[in-house]
Amino acid sequence: MTYNRHDKKSPSASPEFSVREFFQRFNSEQACLDHIMEVRYGGTRFDCQTCGTVGATHHKLEKRRTYVAACCGHHVNPTAGTILENTRTPLVSWFFAMYMFCTTRHGVSGKELQRQLGVTYKTAYRIGQQIRDLMSKAKAFEALLSGHVELDEAYVGGRKSGGKRGRGAPGITIVMGLAERNGRVRARIVRNVKKETLRGVVLDNVAEGTTVSTDELYSYNLLTGDGYSHGVVKHGKKEYAYYDYKRDETFHVNTVEGFWRLFKASVRSTHIQIIGQRISRSSVNAYPDQRQAYAALSGRVHFPCEPPEPCERDV
Ligand SMILES: [Zn+2]
Repeated sequence: MTYNRHDKKSPSASPEFSVREFFQRFNSEQACLDHIMEVRYGGTRFDCQTCGTVGATHHKLEKRRTYVAACCGHHVNPTAGTILENTRTPLVSWFFAMYMFCTTRHGVSGKELQRQLGVTYKTAYRIGQQIRDLMSKAKAFEALLSGHVELDEAYVGGRKSGGKRGRGAPGITIVMGLAERNGRVRARIVRNVKKETLRGVVLDNVAEGTTVSTDELYSYNLLTGDGYSHGVVKHGKKEYAYYDYKRDETFHVNTVEGFWRLFKASVRSTHIQIIGQRISRSSVNAYPDQRQAYAALSGRVHFPCEPPEPCERDV
């Protein structure tokens, strides 16, 4: 989803494709199937996968999400291999759920899906999870971060018990920030700050050959063996930036720290209700689109955090 702030319309206030237009277009199970056939096969006339007949006509079987090739009777299930395969929930409900994810700038909660789709919470929750999973998989195809990438972790939520903050505090959520200088920002929840965990996130998100700035949590040689040009800033020794003349690079993590400052300020000012509790994993992971994640984390949109719903947490 792209959102250009120069556009006159904001997508949530007045989407280009309104709810009314949505229901005009996707008014039945058949309309949804037609759309899937169009997207996957270009319609109902296409080359038969079994006998090779060119431009074979396919007819829908009554009361089933299956099409049959006129030439040889080959069955085509347009939802095969998608999250819609084997679902008993009407396709219109699924389509509308996807529509909500695409047009809402904050995340879509299970509760909201339950209300809008008129299904049980359990069903709504599953639909939401599957759409989120799929969106984050789609995102995995996005280019890896490159250039000069700064890494830094933030500790979010948790009670400030006896001044104990940071890594050891109870209920804390650790979020790793990855920021390209003058570029994209990603945030990933991590279970811990063990070397292997941190290294894994870097391997998943940063292109080989990239220059990487970190603080001393990342020991020397943790990343160089993987083909990165790694520079460590020793915050513990009050070192905040250094210039490496051999590599002609200045190592610092100011960009990503700036991002966390914005994020933390937004948590303090507008999201007071989530302080003192753990921010749910889903609330951060719910932003598969990084522009959305950035918007969310920098406080322009709300966390879809509904404290009374314990099952929404720790997913
Ligand atoms: Zn055939």
